[in-house]
Amino acid sequence: MTTFKTMSVTGWGRYPVVSSDVFRPDGPRAVREILGERHHAALIARGYGRSYGDAALNTDRGVISGEKLDRFLNFDERTGVLTAEAGVRLKEILDVFVPRGWFLPVTPGTKFVSLGGALACDIHGKNHHRDESFSRHVEWFDLLVASGEVIRCSKTENADLFWATAGGMGLTGIVLAVALKLQPIETAYISVDYVRTRDLDETLELCESGDERYHYSVCWIDCLASGTSLGRSVLMRGEHARPDQLPKKLQKHLFEIPHKPDVTVPFSFPNFAINPLSVKAFNFGFYHKHPKEKTGVITNYDSYFYPLDSVLEWNRVYGARGFLQYQPVFPPETSRSALIKTLEVLSKNKVASFLAVLKRFGPQEGLLSFPMPGYTLALDIPVTGPGLFKILDELDELVVASGGRIYLGKDARVRPEHMPAMYPKLAEWKRIKHDIDPENVFSSDLSRRVGLTER
Ligand SMILES: Cc1cc2nc3c(=O)[nH]c(=O)nc-3n(C[C@H](O)[C@H](O)[C@H](O)COP(=O)(O)OP(=O)(O)OC[C@H]3O[C@@H](n4cnc5c(N)ncnc54)[C@H](O)[C@@H]3O)c2cc1C
Repeated sequence: MTTFKTMSVTGWGRYPVVSSDVFRPDGPRAVREILGERHHAALIARGYGRSYGDAALNTDRGVISGEKLDRFLNFDERTGVLTAEAGVRLKEILDVFVPRGWFLPVTPGTKFVSLGGALACDIHGKNHHRDESFSRHVEWFDLLVASGEVIRCSKTENADLFWATAGGMGLTGIVLAVALKLQPIETAYISVDYVRTRDLDETLELCESGDERYHYSVCWIDCLASGTSLGRSVLMRGEHARPDQLPKKLQKHLFEIPHKPDVTVPFSFPNFAINPLSVKAFNFGFYHKHPKEKTGVITNYDSYFYPLDSVLEWNRVYGARGFLQYQPVFPPETSRSALIKTLEVLSKNKVASFLAVLKRFGPQEGLLSFPMPGYTLALDIPVTGPGLFKILDELDELVVASGGRIYLGKDARVRPEHMPAMYPKLAEWKRIKHDIDPENVFSSDLSRRVGLTER
């Protein structure tokens, strides 16, 4: 029998923490053996546990880590299509391919995620308004399904399974390999324009009128500002820089960026470290640190896309009780009113978030993919107790009433009754799931909690 280790497992939010049997297969053949043995009532794939909640957790059941499925398989210089095993991290792709003039087509706010995890959450980046999410750039993937068969899926071959797996939270099977189309770049730098807005209306107006001119667009939003400042933000919009935009000294090394030493948060901070006062002070400082407007600031890709990655284990800052990321999206027609209401509720209840990000989405295809046209807000919130869960439950009602949804890749608490309204293609997804995995060999704490699979 393949060996596993029974251990505590958690997501990036460190809430909840559960015990699971973790396998670390060293190749596709070993993954198939684990599946064939059927030792566990249920299995779920795991990348690097960067989903915040319980998507990659399986209490008292099996978790298959992709950490050793980490080989590059092929690269086509002509088309930019990279084929790699599903456990390869975005960091390794950047390390190898940026120096050759290629960049990821879509990236989240951390590079420590696997290709398999990126596909299963159908991740979005700062370019969603222009380039959609990860699945759009996937040519094909190989999926090990419950029967033991490996099925190649693309937008033309087994397309149903392609769209049920992209955003399908690991529940259709284990992705073994992914073919991803990279994008060519001329330098490793981004030219960034900053604008500081006075309130939500100005923020939304600038996004509506200007986002299309930029490849990347994101706003940091001061979620504790209230009254006439409600929704004040710093917009950070960028383009891949051309060589002639770089200062002279960088022009000799177009694809090299300075190496930043990593620092590690050595222990869990006390639970009280993040509180409305410390967050208010941070937000005030961050807002005023930025000028009203500044254009053409040359920044390397690492600082623009991954500002938090150089602080390893920064999730410890939120204390031993962990934190939640609350990420709803609202359609265009309700975005303004729903965002105002959400910010008001958070501000009134003094729910503190250092990291509050607002972003405009474009169209989307996957059956359970999170993005939809409209605005998404992402807030990191320390777990303080039952009162917080009650506030977020109330906000979920607003999300549903507004025609929006919550991102499952960040979630640890949404109730199952909201799922059909949040994900209107749920019934179609469930039909495909039932056809490919009638016995629910693949399930997770998330899938049982929100009713994607039987409890
Ligand atoms: C700091 C930070 C910033 C982030 N920013 C963004 C962002 O901007 N946009 C965004 O969309 N997300 C963002 N995320 C979330 C993150 O990108 C996703 O949760 C991603 O899926 C994590 O990848 P992982 O490899 O760690 O997967 P895990 O967290 O381990 O697993 C996530 C899901 O993928 C499934 N999975 C993993 N590997 C496989 C496989 N081989 N086959 C099938 N299923 C698999 C798991 O079952 C699980 O359902 C952010 C996370 C952090 C910590």
